[in-house]
Amino acid sequence: MEYQEIAKPSGPYKNVDPNLVDYAASRADFDWWRDAFAKMDWLPGGGLNNAYEAVDRHVDHGHGDKLAMIWVGKNGEEERYTYSDFKERSDRFGAVMKGLGIERGDRVFIFMDRLPELYFAAMGILKAGGVIAPLFSAFGPEPVKDRIEDAEGRFVITSPELKAKISGIFKDLPSVEKIIIVNKNGRSTEPLDDGDLDYDELMANASSDDFTIENTSQYDFSIMHYTSGSTGKPKGVLHRHQAVVQQWLTGHWALDLKFDDIYFCTADPGWVTGTSYGMMAPWTNGVTQIIYEGGFGANAWYDVIDKYKVTVWYTAPTAIRLLMRAGSKPVEEHSLETLRFIGSVGEPLNPEAVVWGNEHYKMPIHDNWWQTETGAIMCANYASMPVRPGSMGRPFPGITMAVIDDNYEPVALGEAGALAVRPGWPSMMYAYWKKDEMYNSRFKKGWYITGDQASLDEDGFFWFQGRADDVINTAGHLVGPFEVESALIEHPAVAEAGVIGKPDPIAMEVVKAFVTLTPDHEPTPQLQRELIRFSRDKLSAGVAPREIDFIDVMPKTRSGKIMRRLLKARELGLPEGDTSTLEDD
Ligand code: AMP
Repeated sequence: MEYQEIAKPSGPYKNVDPNLVDYAASRADFDWWRDAFAKMDWLPGGGLNNAYEAVDRHVDHGHGDKLAMIWVGKNGEEERYTYSDFKERSDRFGAVMKGLGIERGDRVFIFMDRLPELYFAAMGILKAGGVIAPLFSAFGPEPVKDRIEDAEGRFVITSPELKAKISGIFKDLPSVEKIIIVNKNGRSTEPLDDGDLDYDELMANASSDDFTIENTSQYDFSIMHYTSGSTGKPKGVLHRHQAVVQQWLTGHWALDLKFDDIYFCTADPGWVTGTSYGMMAPWTNGVTQIIYEGGFGANAWYDVIDKYKVTVWYTAPTAIRLLMRAGSKPVEEHSLETLRFIGSVGEPLNPEAVVWGNEHYKMPIHDNWWQTETGAIMCANYASMPVRPGSMGRPFPGITMAVIDDNYEPVALGEAGALAVRPGWPSMMYAYWKKDEMYNSRFKKGWYITGDQASLDEDGFFWFQGRADDVINTAGHLVGPFEVESALIEHPAVAEAGVIGKPDPIAMEVVKAFVTLTPDHEPTPQLQRELIRFSRDKLSAGVAPREIDFIDVMPKTRSGKIMRRLLKARELGLPEGDTSTLEDD
């Protein structure tokens, strides 16, 4: 079906400048995407729905018996689902959501480990017209509460153990109407909390027979991920169904996915890689995906690759550095012979890792770059060209990228500057939820400003240089210092907290906090440990500080902002730079 220009829903984003939102880079880029849109299977009513493109269309094209998912549970369980099974279960969940009164655009939070039901629910929500809002299952109560509160989530889907972890937050979340509990294979014997709904019971009582997918347009909202900035709490990045066209095509070209591939993505759906490339890209490309519930483990991952004959593997630099540290032995003890493509995202991939991949996996690792806001891969090392170790590759066709200076003009080749993209790509974020001003501030003089620093070489390859802000990238996950500082100062001993990223050989950066104490508290090792524990319980082990130092005075600007840059310079023994705005103590 042809790409259709249809009226955009007015929605709650009237304040966003429409010229920014659908601004096409150039006529050529736009026409290029138009052709890609034409290759999608549009809904009979003229709409576009991610879940239809990922699941149902394979059934409609006669591939219902093909395996969509092999789930490998943490206790060694295995479950297999064909595209027909997937369609049936997601239709059924769509019917459940409609039965519960979901309306288009309602935010449904999924706070779950990697279980098949997470994926059935996600697709069912999309089919029913809702917006998926995934949450990383390692989060503690605080980040979960902040996000649900901000997005006014109406439904939450979780498991008994995770519900128990956060049960205290719901009294402060009036928007949440129903909590659905997935008790996978009866893992928990505890009764449900009052008012909670049992997933299995809801599914048993719903019928997929007369369910029809909502006729969502490409402009309807589909997914919202929270991402961290240097100021304020994390913000909700809202995407639309039209992102699917770019997820599909980048899956095909940047990850080299072909219909017969067995694909293994190690990212969790709580982060954007786990949805764009752990759901949309693989399934729109019709591959069989391995969903592995367990965490990192060199032998465990290689076992998965061998046992399920994985052909394409998408992972992250931190994991690759851990695999390098695990050494040659686990590699030699496995065959890994089915692997034919490895991709990496989330942080810069060290050139040594590419070399190591060549030696040990007999193939290079392909780095690619993108962010929550871009919704899909923007720049990549492709299967079709030699990898340039240390570079994040070249822009995807239909994407215009540049390195620009403070006047938004391109800098000379080889020079560092702000990495920018011409707005208008299909998976471009539509909004920061209820933060129009912040959204608009990311667009300047016809560019989307990514927040990263990069350089460009004479062959069109981009090279990541660092972040332009204080956001910490730990093991591929962005952590906003403000969120950690806010959690720390809730402790009675903490007067002020300043948080930075400290370089780390494995995780790239770890979170480090500097703390001033309230009167009557002594800087002891016990207090250090207590503060780490306190913030872990509130946030999660990955987000909480790994190290805490006590300081007497917090360096601040005259306007009262914590000078994290200075804390970092002092930590690293670097020059302190311009301190003219430093407050006198
Ligand atoms: P997120 O929005 O959480 O996916 O994080 C996006 C950020 O991660 C980017 O803005 C970069 O700072 C970093 N990032 C992602 N991919 C790469 C890469 N291939 N090389 C360097 N940094 C990356």
